[in-house]
Amino acid sequence: MIEVKDHQLECAKCGNPFVFTAKEAARFNDKGLTNIPKKCPDCRAKDRAKQEQKVREPVQCAECGASFEVPFEPARNADGSLARPLYCVEHFEKSSSAS
Ligand SMILES: [Zn+2]
Ligand SMILES: [Zn+2]
Repeated sequence: MIEVKDHQLECAKCGNPFVFTAKEAARFNDKGLTNIPKKCPDCRAKDRAKQEQKVREPVQCAECGASFEVPFEPARNADGSLARPLYCVEHFEKSSSAS
């Protein structure tokens, strides 16, 4: 259990002092969390934003060669080529409906 009081802390990332309030401590206890956050609210918000930011990988359509981006990191061969063919929006539908 986290002690329910205002904790004066220092952010592990930016070094800024921040307060982990008694209210937050109580909420953490409610959730069963036992670790006091090491980072200030600012850095935590930034971390979260970064996590939510989707990966955009430029790839080429195996059908027409058009460049486009996919929201994930595709598997690649040792030489950097795509391990599996990827298709642009137009050809993706064709390739999946063809089978
Ligand atoms: Zn910080
Ligand atoms: Zn295409």
